[in-house]
Amino acid sequence: MDGFALTYESFEPTEEGLREALTSTGNGYLCSRGTAEWEDADGVHYPGTYVHGVYNRETTILGGLPVLNEDLVNLPNWLVLKLRIEGAEAIRLADVELLEYRHQLDIHRAVVTREIRFLDAAGRETALRSRRFVSMANSHQAGIEWTLTPQNWSGRVEVISAIDGRITNHGVARYLELEGRHLDPVSPRTFGAEVIALKTQTRQSNIYISQAARTRVFRGSEPLAVERTLHQMEDYIQQVLAFDVRQGAPTRVEKMLTFSTSRDSATSDTLAKAGTSALRRPGFEKTLERHVSAWDELWRVCDVRVRRDERVQMLLRLHVCHVLQVCSRHTADLDAGLPARGLNGEAYRGHVFWDELYVLPFLSFRMPEVARELLMYRYRRLDEARAAAREAGFRGAMFPWQSGSEGKEETQRVHLNPLSGSWEPDLSRNQRHVNAAIFYNIWNYFQATRDLAFLRDYGAEMMVEIARFWASIAQFNPDRERYEIHGVMGPDEFHEKYPDAEEGGLRNNAYTNVMVAWLCELAGEVLSLLPASRADALRARLGISEQELRLWQDMSRRMFVPFHGDGLISQFEGYDALEELDWDGYRAKHGNIQRLDRILRAEGDDPNRYKIAKQADTVMLFFLFSPRGLRRLFERLGYEYRDDTAARNIAYYDQRTSHGSTLSFVTYAGVLATLDPESSWERFLVALNSDVGDVQGGTTREGIHMGVMAGTLDLMQRAYLGMEIRDDVLHFEPRLPGPIEEVSCTVQFRRAPLRVTLSKDNLTLALHPEGASGPIKVGAGGETRELCPGEGYTFWLSPAMQAGERGVNG
Ligand code: BGC
Repeated sequence: MDGFALTYESFEPTEEGLREALTSTGNGYLCSRGTAEWEDADGVHYPGTYVHGVYNRETTILGGLPVLNEDLVNLPNWLVLKLRIEGAEAIRLADVELLEYRHQLDIHRAVVTREIRFLDAAGRETALRSRRFVSMANSHQAGIEWTLTPQNWSGRVEVISAIDGRITNHGVARYLELEGRHLDPVSPRTFGAEVIALKTQTRQSNIYISQAARTRVFRGSEPLAVERTLHQMEDYIQQVLAFDVRQGAPTRVEKMLTFSTSRDSATSDTLAKAGTSALRRPGFEKTLERHVSAWDELWRVCDVRVRRDERVQMLLRLHVCHVLQVCSRHTADLDAGLPARGLNGEAYRGHVFWDELYVLPFLSFRMPEVARELLMYRYRRLDEARAAAREAGFRGAMFPWQSGSEGKEETQRVHLNPLSGSWEPDLSRNQRHVNAAIFYNIWNYFQATRDLAFLRDYGAEMMVEIARFWASIAQFNPDRERYEIHGVMGPDEFHEKYPDAEEGGLRNNAYTNVMVAWLCELAGEVLSLLPASRADALRARLGISEQELRLWQDMSRRMFVPFHGDGLISQFEGYDALEELDWDGYRAKHGNIQRLDRILRAEGDDPNRYKIAKQADTVMLFFLFSPRGLRRLFERLGYEYRDDTAARNIAYYDQRTSHGSTLSFVTYAGVLATLDPESSWERFLVALNSDVGDVQGGTTREGIHMGVMAGTLDLMQRAYLGMEIRDDVLHFEPRLPGPIEEVSCTVQFRRAPLRVTLSKDNLTLALHPEGASGPIKVGAGGETRELCPGEGYTFWLSPAMQAGERGVNG
């Protein structure tokens, strides 16, 4: 299917959880795992449906102590369609002999199909094709179609069509001891003869969720008269549709679903809303047609095409498909953040971390309105962040490491080490660097879009409050005459504290301190970008004094960065004193050592003792800033930045990183793109395969990794097209990666749709005649051009650039 299908040709129970996550279908409002309609949660299968923002808090008593968790709630299972043949037990994959099996995600249309032919215990051979989608055209709709063809028999069948509210969150083994009940029943109801509906409510957050399903049966295009029997309980409703089928004659069953929650706009009673709209909806084909046309439009905006490697093409498109199924234009209305694991499973409880740092670049250049709303999720939680800063004794806004409904800190205080079975303290909330990431995201969204209204009304306020937080957590060390930050962690979660320390956090994480130097410089300047009246109002309202502005400027010149050895940046102060790990020994003993933290702790050891890293930490700097930008930052701070600073540091930390977070592969692929293109491409392929190949040995079944999926797409533009905005010019320093012969995509640069095509010896940029209000500036290889709407230009690449010798940003 021309790079547009993910197909499994046999049923493998141990792989099913992974495949369910990867064949999830969603529309940026709701998403359902690719579980077969006829299966219940049983260890192999796990039906899961999640809607942005539907969180609930529950307390678990663990060893006598209350542990509070907020979860993205698994909602009533609307998928349920079960087949009973001649009164026998409902068919399940485990109970029949499968003669044919094909489970496929049609990536282009976001339709999941299962085509099976099976022999049941009575020797009846039946073909069943199921197609399912969650509508991209209308965010509240979804549909399932079954085509049932008896191969060697005729007789009576019953199809059970249900909405099952007897659902808990138990999709992640590590969380099983924690409370998983989040729903209370409200009521079942029918709307006419064909529609069943169920209303539930989250137990603590009091969100109503209603689903309504209309089930019909057709022979050809004619509706078939069926006998319907209803059964309902407070948390479950089903209709059994009984009808005759004939050998060789296909019969179609359509289950059309509508969804409504009390978080939706234009909604009074969710049950009435879902039920009445289920009555009005057209049938499967019509709804599918609209869905497909909505996706056609999305692909025109978001496709990333590569020539010469079909697998790479398929996986890039799979990633586009999943990113859009979690974040689409529908998401823009929802006050939704970016759940690190999508809406595809329960890992990390649907929480929002810093991973949007990897996702926003793709969205800002494709669907800026969605990126904007993901930033608005933060803005709406600014007061909570201010309160958190105050409670911790700081000023400004301190956004939480893990965020959910309200923007409070949702990071758990204990977590289970599956290797040892023990609950261990979790200090990861000290990753205050999430605040630098939010600042960076706002600034880069603004760079891509020039959305001054956003900056004026929301962005600048967050930036100022974040700078203020950093200024208050930092302390001036008169001996060094530099500012220092203590008690925080960098992105590397293996280092939570100093060995044997009681307190969590470290001194002077280099990544954090450099980010703070960068943002402190910008925070003051951002006010000058605003209309004077707004800048004055903001200064007055937030009480920003000249003295404070001077402090930020001073910090931007005098943050402390620890170094050790010759030009090596220390991940944090004291890093040099840690022990080296016997990497070969651990690899030989354990094979996969990505999660060295768990291995060491299970052995009674402590990861904090060693020079090891879960993921890129210091190396993040080389990913987020261009070589030119980073040199400027270091020199402004009065530190030497040598020609080999990037290469030396990347090599040093690479040898000491276990890549226990797949985000790390994206980062290393990015930073190596110029230094070592071959190695960059290898890392890129690991990142690209990481979900589909489940490289972490079982995590993807608990949810896809949004950061990595979008990160690989960002790498195509950031690392391989070498795209960077500098002084209002969209610059390219391209290098075709690996075996790829051509890369093409469309990016929206400040509302101008620009078609970018990179081939072996040239880069062609074409500004679409519609959409752009005026000319834009583009550049490559030292040449800058102005492009008017409708114009194109080809930059011929020098042999050095073709060989990939130029830096990402010159
Ligand atoms: C990583 C974090 C990431 C989180 C959610 C963790 O394993 O270490 O950097 O934000 O997963 O994806």
